[in-house]
Amino acid sequence: MNCITVKKSSKGGKGVFAARDFKKGEVVLIWDISHQLSREQIKNLSQDDQNHTNYIGTDTYTLMQSPEKFVDHSCEPNTYVKNQQDIALIDIEKGEEITTDYSLNGIDDWEMQCNCGTQNCRKVIYGDFRKLDLKTKKRLYPYLEEWYKREIKI
Ligand SMILES: [Zn+2]
Repeated sequence: MNCITVKKSSKGGKGVFAARDFKKGEVVLIWDISHQLSREQIKNLSQDDQNHTNYIGTDTYTLMQSPEKFVDHSCEPNTYVKNQQDIALIDIEKGEEITTDYSLNGIDDWEMQCNCGTQNCRKVIYGDFRKLDLKTKKRLYPYLEEWYKREIKI
């Protein structure tokens, strides 16, 4: 059964949408992490591919595949990433857009404007979790990957 669909999002570009209801804690998407790269190898990718890499610990990046690479950021997301799976943070209804917090588990030095429109929008998204304000860090800490806590000094 297809649990998600990819279509145009209201923010422009593609987005991922729930094709059925999900209960809090359910796996929404399992990433394809078969395309693994070192930090060095990333420099040879196209800019678009570089924008879709994700650090997964132990000096390893994954080149994100469809559909997981189309999951948009929200400052109040309905999923989080654990062991390269998107997990429902809350109950999600069929038709809702699947969103995630790009700063969670992030170690990369980039930033972009955020127009997610949620009440607690941070306005700027950092590619590096360590750049977040203390309050947001504390809120997200329980969702951090184990490798992050092990490898990265927060
Ligand atoms: Zn936002």
